[in-house]
Amino acid sequence: MTITLPAGLTAETRTLSGWGRTNPVSAQVVQPSSVEQLQELIRGAPPRSLIARGLGRSYGDAAQLKDGTVIELPAFDRIELDPASGTLTAGAGVSLDQILRVIVPAGFFLPVTPGTRKVTVGGAIAADVHGKNHHVDGSFGNHVQRLLLVDGTGTLRELTPSGRGSFDEAEFFWATVGGMGLTGVIVEATFSLIPITSSLISVDTTRYRDLESLMAAMVEADSRYRYSVAWVDSLDPKGRGVLTCGDHAPAEALPPNLQADPLHYDPKALASAPPFLPGGLLNKLTVRAFNEAWYRKAPKHRVGELQAIAPFFHPLDGVQDWNRIYGPAGFLQYQFAVPNEAAHLVPRTLEALRQVGAPSFLTVLKRFGPSNPAPLSFPIPGWTLAADVPAAVPGLLEVLDQLDGEVSAAGGRLYLAKDSRQSSGMSGDSYTRIADFVNIAERLDPNFILKSDLQTRCLHFARAPSVAS
Ligand SMILES: Cc1cc2nc3c(=O)[nH]c(=O)nc-3n(C[C@H](O)[C@H](O)[C@H](O)COP(=O)(O)OP(=O)(O)OC[C@H]3O[C@@H](n4cnc5c(N)ncnc54)[C@H](O)[C@@H]3O)c2cc1C
Repeated sequence: MTITLPAGLTAETRTLSGWGRTNPVSAQVVQPSSVEQLQELIRGAPPRSLIARGLGRSYGDAAQLKDGTVIELPAFDRIELDPASGTLTAGAGVSLDQILRVIVPAGFFLPVTPGTRKVTVGGAIAADVHGKNHHVDGSFGNHVQRLLLVDGTGTLRELTPSGRGSFDEAEFFWATVGGMGLTGVIVEATFSLIPITSSLISVDTTRYRDLESLMAAMVEADSRYRYSVAWVDSLDPKGRGVLTCGDHAPAEALPPNLQADPLHYDPKALASAPPFLPGGLLNKLTVRAFNEAWYRKAPKHRVGELQAIAPFFHPLDGVQDWNRIYGPAGFLQYQFAVPNEAAHLVPRTLEALRQVGAPSFLTVLKRFGPSNPAPLSFPIPGWTLAADVPAAVPGLLEVLDQLDGEVSAAGGRLYLAKDSRQSSGMSGDSYTRIADFVNIAERLDPNFILKSDLQTRCLHFARAPSVAS
């Protein structure tokens, strides 16, 4: 699709895919240098031609548009910490990695961080990302106080969660949170931070021999810890696992040798830790060996271990391009959220993946607290299970289709930022406020300029099909 570029803006044709590398497409990539240039680009663009992209850490096709134009925002790189109010204002192209290097030594932490710090502020808001503290702190959008959005008409809007009394503005804000880039391009945001007195986390680790006792311990941990996450041995029929819980350690609790520099932060040195991944070819045997070693390596029960931020929150970031171990066919992540009443879908899913022979070394279980007002936000109170599996496993897609129906019937849904395969039937059934989202997004982008491959695949009814492209 041809697009007229504003003066001074050049495009580069690139092959783009998500982190799972399952669906590479060709697109032209542009990097506007100012809000004005971005506005001009959007105003001159034909329908269904543009989508924003951060660092491409969503697993599927959310940040790509086949034969379209993809907007990256490295020039939107402002980072301004206001220690008095404990807030940060950051450009949408800034990564959480860059932010941590500024805020941790100054005594602050991110309100929410996903399992990788290599995501942008724009991507964190557009996917409304969650961390290990959802049961306490909610998702990223809960902490955003203000954002700047260039909408689908090229209008620059300053949006706040309350809308400062304007119902429309509040709706625009919440549709942009979790809106997967379909309401416009976020250029900047201000969000609150967590004050900390040390950069260390006090971590309690416990092994459980079966899924039932692991899940019971997780429910109990909800009220005791700010952070909690469980790794599950997906190949073990009993579903044994390791529960890791933690809280920011106060400086006064550190041993004397760490008291001199309690806010020390050096993710590179800390994250080049032991080889974390199963080596060589990834198959059932190597994954079984890895899972066995990973389970045995964990202590049966250890309390108060001090861990640095990088290994606790972002263990995989220390390994460059780990997504390539799945080979050219790539991999996908199946992540669902289900209400507490549907907890049985956790063992049911693990069993189904075992039966089809899908080896997963990265199977993670977390608790979710209350949802926020964003109509497309993923978390709902209850459980979320995420399993990485090679895309080429025979019979996998059929099993996942079957599981989709069960998840949706139980009131659950799949995470759009991780998804690469769900149908529009599934997303339509499970994201029950999708009609609200469509209505709001169409007011922000009446000419349907914004579009992604994810939208074509599973949110296509979110754009009136009768509009000519
Ligand atoms: C190892 C790993 C661990 C992860 N762990 C978690 C986790 O624990 N919790 C969690 O919630 N997620 C997790 N994720 C997913 C990741 O946090 C999200 O996919 C996030 O959106 C990626 O950010 P990004 O900057 O790479 O955005 P991209 O993947 O490039 O884009 C994601 C979406 O955001 C939109 N977008 C990007 N920038 C803008 C902008 N400026 N304006 C408007 N829309 C924009 C895109 O259009 C797209 O729809 C993980 C991913 C990986 C690879």
